[in-house]
Amino acid sequence: MTPTVTLTPRGVERAKSGHLWIYRSDLAEIQAAAGDIVQVIGPRGRPVGAAFYSDRSQIALRLVTHTGHADEALWRQRLERAIRFRESLAIDATAYRLVHGEGDLLPSLVVDRYGDYVVLQTLSQATDRLMPEWVRALNALIAPAGILARNDARVRTLEGLEPKVEVVSGHVPERLEAREGRVRYEVDLFTGQKTGLFLDQRENREAAARHAHGRLLDCFSYHGGFALALAPHCTDTIAIESSEDAARHIRENAARNGLAERIEVRVANVFDELRGLERLGESFDTIVLDPPAFAKNKAALPNARAGYKEINLRALKLLRPGGTLITCSCSYNVSEAMFAEIVYDAAVDARAHVTVVEKRMQGRDHPVLLGVPETYYLKCFILRKLP
Ligand code: SAH
Repeated sequence: MTPTVTLTPRGVERAKSGHLWIYRSDLAEIQAAAGDIVQVIGPRGRPVGAAFYSDRSQIALRLVTHTGHADEALWRQRLERAIRFRESLAIDATAYRLVHGEGDLLPSLVVDRYGDYVVLQTLSQATDRLMPEWVRALNALIAPAGILARNDARVRTLEGLEPKVEVVSGHVPERLEAREGRVRYEVDLFTGQKTGLFLDQRENREAAARHAHGRLLDCFSYHGGFALALAPHCTDTIAIESSEDAARHIRENAARNGLAERIEVRVANVFDELRGLERLGESFDTIVLDPPAFAKNKAALPNARAGYKEINLRALKLLRPGGTLITCSCSYNVSEAMFAEIVYDAAVDARAHVTVVEKRMQGRDHPVLLGVPETYYLKCFILRKLP
């Protein structure tokens, strides 16, 4: 018998709204096991679609189709469309996202390309169980030299899935070089954050480079993403990063790009360092703020707000008149409007008139699905402090 889940009337409404997630509280009856692909029906047996079922997560269902069959042919078609869309973007980089989960109608599946290699994450019970099918399809569609499953993401624990990092096809080197525009990075596919790089910021780094000038301060630098892209347009650069290991990567990447002389790397806490720079009377023409998600959940919002405000306030004070602030938030729980308000509050306290040069988001290879607000997480404002 086909595994089947019956929704409550509220669950049916939710499905109709275009959201792909249905919470456990909206299920009326469950005849399914962990990781099943289930038929979803309404209270009177009307078909709603097909979904991935999880017996652990609060997100009990992830809808994959409202009509038709959810089978290997459908995955193949969705993967192919996702890949063709990236081709249409003519991305000037060897590393980019091929599949952005819900944004590509492949809920809880992430696939990133790093040159000849592919890194994937199966973030729910169902996509995890389908691993052989993803591998088959990716080999058929793009024939990578190797596929690595970077399944050590923390969200997997909500699904009761083990953290696991394993080569699931071909061979994958410990380290490789990736290129973004003119910048070359060394990437550790097995241990780097996310799948190795913060690919979602690629287009924002490009955009920021167009406005960067003078003295640059890159805060929360990781492997030097913004510093490396912006340094050629600036006179000198300071990159701040709290992780010693990440800081080592910034130095190596700077050398790799012939920028070793121009980028000073400081291992420090950004909050302390901004205060210290202010005390010393330092100033900058371009400042980047790209912190980790301060609000991982709703409960963390008040502290997150305070954190975002503090760094933006300090940065605006350190910024010279006519300077550029590139400020980001990757917390889904901080909406674009909320983030704009926080930055505005900071500007008021810094007694600065600030204009918006560009309002940006995650790169186009990380598509936002209208109806699933969770797919819009990264906000990036490029601002100008008026002289
Ligand atoms: N800007 C980077 C990505 C930043 S990810 C890019 O374009 O690739 C956020 C980084 O901030 C991580 O490397 C993390 O180690 C660092 N970090 C987190 N909290 C910090 C703090 N308080 N001070 C300095 N760095 C911090």
